[in-house]
Amino acid sequence: MTARELPDWLDPTPWLATARSATARDVARALEAAHPQEPELAALIAPAADGLLEELASRARDLTWQHFGRTIALYVPLYLSDYCSSGCVYCGFAADRQIPRRRLEPAEIRDELAAIRRMGIQEVLLLTGERTPQADFDYLEAAVEEAAGHFAAVMVEAFPMTIQEYGRLAQAGCTGVTIYQETYDPDQYARLHRWGPKRDYAARLQAPEKILASGLRVVGLGALLGLNDPLFEALCLYLHARHLLRSYWRGGITLSFPRVCRQRGDSVPPHPFDERSLARLVCALRICLPDVPLVLSTRESARVRDGLAGVGINKMSVASRTTVGGYVAPGPPEEGQFQVSDERDVATFCAALRRKGLQPVFKNWDSVFR
Ligand code: SF4
Repeated sequence: MTARELPDWLDPTPWLATARSATARDVARALEAAHPQEPELAALIAPAADGLLEELASRARDLTWQHFGRTIALYVPLYLSDYCSSGCVYCGFAADRQIPRRRLEPAEIRDELAAIRRMGIQEVLLLTGERTPQADFDYLEAAVEEAAGHFAAVMVEAFPMTIQEYGRLAQAGCTGVTIYQETYDPDQYARLHRWGPKRDYAARLQAPEKILASGLRVVGLGALLGLNDPLFEALCLYLHARHLLRSYWRGGITLSFPRVCRQRGDSVPPHPFDERSLARLVCALRICLPDVPLVLSTRESARVRDGLAGVGINKMSVASRTTVGGYVAPGPPEEGQFQVSDERDVATFCAALRRKGLQPVFKNWDSVFR
């Protein structure tokens, strides 16, 4: 598949020209739209919107408070394994990195989960790389089952699966699955995913639909910002979310905004993406998707996170470790999948949120199925 062969529902071409050429007047008009859609999003993500960033932020904040209250939902990621058979240029766990590999054994998973619970956290995100003999579906399913016994919500971020496998995760207590396309441009995708199962662009693109068709409640979408033209990625992310919402309006969709950050391998992002552009993109997507949860991780600095909390963003990771086993025995940060920027613990981060008038939320609801 090349960029010219994107499925119709994902083709951003009609709006890319607007995003590249929009003027301040176009941005102001988009800000006034009652029901902003593709043309308005194209104007709001345009570089011309930089001059109206305060206005974007104000509208984004109003909509965030209106749909989510002054709350920030919190979660913690748990890396189960750093074995991987793929060669993603931007990842510290890529198969060609010379590192000692390990996976957590069942007792270690219990210990890590207990350490996270002691922080007061009630939602955990379980991560692995691509499917390997060491961390295959059965291994992941057992980890979900263990986590579901202790946490109100268990998300998974791993390899693309079959609908049946996603259904089994739901049965095991999984709340939802995050799967980022990384870049929606198939040509750039082929360049950056050098080998391994993750080279399969189509399998990754089809996964979110399978996730929602399986009965899982939530799917997390995202593009790794810095890999490609951010205007193209932002439009595709929006089109992907809209496409899923049309068929699975009962399902929950979240959008994330990870930026490429330092990692073993020292890969430099081919399309550097600065903080101001990140803020513009978050605000634009909040304005155009007012009731979709927007997520920000600890890849970002404390300053950026505090600035965007409640201004578009309503869900955040906290106190993250990106090494396998990092909550019981923190290893050197450079051995993680990437280097975390905001290293604050849960209490410090929650205090910062409260100073902004925001309420940290650890649990939204109890599942009736367990
Ligand atoms: S991003 Fe995922 S699939 Fe790619 S090398 Fe890293 S762990 Fe493996």
